Amino acid sequence: MSHTTAAPHRSGEQDVDLTSSGLEHRIAEVSPLLNGNTTGVNGVHPNGLTNDLTNGTNGHTPKSGELDASKLTIELADPNARQVPDEATACSGTETICTDHMITCTWKVSSGWEAPALKPYGPLSLMPTASVLHYATECFEGLKCFRGFDGKLRLFRPNLNANRMLMSTLRISLPGFNPEELEKLIAKLVEVDGPKWLSKSRPGSFLYLRPAMIGTQPQLGVQAPKEALLFITASFMPRMDAPAGGMKLHTSPEDQVRAWVGGFGYAKVGANYGPSLLATNEARARGFGQILWLYGPNGECTEAGASNFFILWRAKETGKLQLVTAPLDDRLILDGVTRRSCVELARERLAGELEVVERKYTIDEVLEADKEGRIVEAFAAGTAFFICPVSLIHHRGVEVQIPMGKTGESGMYTAKIKGWLKDIMYGNEQHPWGPVVTDQ
Ligand SMILES: *Cc1c(COP(=O)(O)O)cnc(C)c1O
Repeated sequence: MSHTTAAPHRSGEQDVDLTSSGLEHRIAEVSPLLNGNTTGVNGVHPNGLTNDLTNGTNGHTPKSGELDASKLTIELADPNARQVPDEATACSGTETICTDHMITCTWKVSSGWEAPALKPYGPLSLMPTASVLHYATECFEGLKCFRGFDGKLRLFRPNLNANRMLMSTLRISLPGFNPEELEKLIAKLVEVDGPKWLSKSRPGSFLYLRPAMIGTQPQLGVQAPKEALLFITASFMPRMDAPAGGMKLHTSPEDQVRAWVGGFGYAKVGANYGPSLLATNEARARGFGQILWLYGPNGECTEAGASNFFILWRAKETGKLQLVTAPLDDRLILDGVTRRSCVELARERLAGELEVVERKYTIDEVLEADKEGRIVEAFAAGTAFFICPVSLIHHRGVEVQIPMGKTGESGMYTAKIKGWLKDIMYGNEQHPWGPVVTDQ
C-alpha cells in the first residue's frame, strides 16, 4: 500500500480544509481493503466509530504488502519459565506484568506489512532517532479479554477497537490496514495466552490487551514515517471500577485543556496523554482520582481522565430523568466503546425510565442541578475504569456531592448498566458484543 499519495495540488483549490481533506485522502487509500462498506472506512468515520459491524469477514483477501493475520509466524516461549501471579500481586509492582507472548508486525513504505510474528514477550529495539521518540507518531488501543463464568474466553466488541485504531493511525500518518486482520491478531494472542494467563480456575477475571503502533523510521525531520511497528501485548491491570467512596473528580485547571476543536482528542494517540499528567498528578496529590476536563469559555464537561463521563439528572424544564453525556460531533472527545455501549443499552433497556441525551452541557449546569437537588447519579465509563461511580466533583472551591445509592457504593442505574455489561463480558448473557475466542 502506498504511504502518502501526495494529492495533486490543483491551483484554485484553497487550503481551507487541508486537515480533513488529508484524512479523506488517507481513508480513500485504505478503502479498497474494506470493500462493501459504505459507512466511511469499514464503519469508521474520521471522527471515530460508527457502525458496529458483525464479526464476519468483509470478503477482502489480503494482497502482498497488506496486513495479513494468516501469515502469522509463531515462536512459543517456554511455558514453565514464568508463573502466573495471583490477582493480589499481579498489579502490586511498578511494572506491568505481561503474558508470555506478544505479536509484532513491521511495515515499510516500499514493501508494506511483513508477516506478523507471535513471539516471547520482551523489549523492542529502536534507534534513538526513531520517529515516535521525537514526533509522537504513536497510537494505541485498550480492550479486555474475559474468562467467563461459563469457562469461555471472550472479547468485547473488538471490531470497534480495530476500527478506531485505524482511524487513529491515519490521523498521525501511520500506515493503514484492514481492521479485521488486526482483530484476528488480537484474538490469536488471546487464544495462545488465555489458557495459562486467564485460567479457567479464575472465572470473572480479565486481561488487558494493548495494541499499539509507532513510527520507527530512524531519521530526524518532521515527516510521515516510512517505517512502522504494530505490536500487541496482553497484561494484568488492576480493577479500578469500585474505589472506596466512589471516584472523586477535580475540574481541569483554568489554563489547561485536554483537547480542542480542530485537534485530535477523538483519536487514541499518545500525544493526548503525556500533557494531561501534570493536572492529574496535582489532583491526585489533593485526593482526587481524575480530572473532569472542561472545554471552552463556558466550561463544557467533556471527559473524566481517559474515560467518558455520564451524569444522570432530572431535566430542569420537565423534571424527567436524563442520562447525559458529551456529544461526538465536534470531535473533542474519544468515541469510547464503553460509552457507546452504555448509550445503546440505556436507550434499549431503560427507554421507559429515562432519556439518553448526547449534548453539550456545562459545569454551571451541573452546579445548578446540584443546587436544585436534581443530580441523581454520575459515572465514568471506559475500558480501564469500566463503569466507575462518581461521588464528587470539585470545581473552583465548590464541592458537588453526588448520591451513591442506598449501598453507598453506586447509584441504581449505574449498577444496572454495569451489570448488563458484565453479564455480556462474562457470558451470563449470550450477546453479539461478546465474541468467544476458543481456547487452544
Ligand atoms: C480510551 C479512552 C476512553 C474510553 O474508551 P473505551 O473504548 O471505552 O475504552 C475515553 N476517553 C479517552 C480520552 C480515552 O483515551
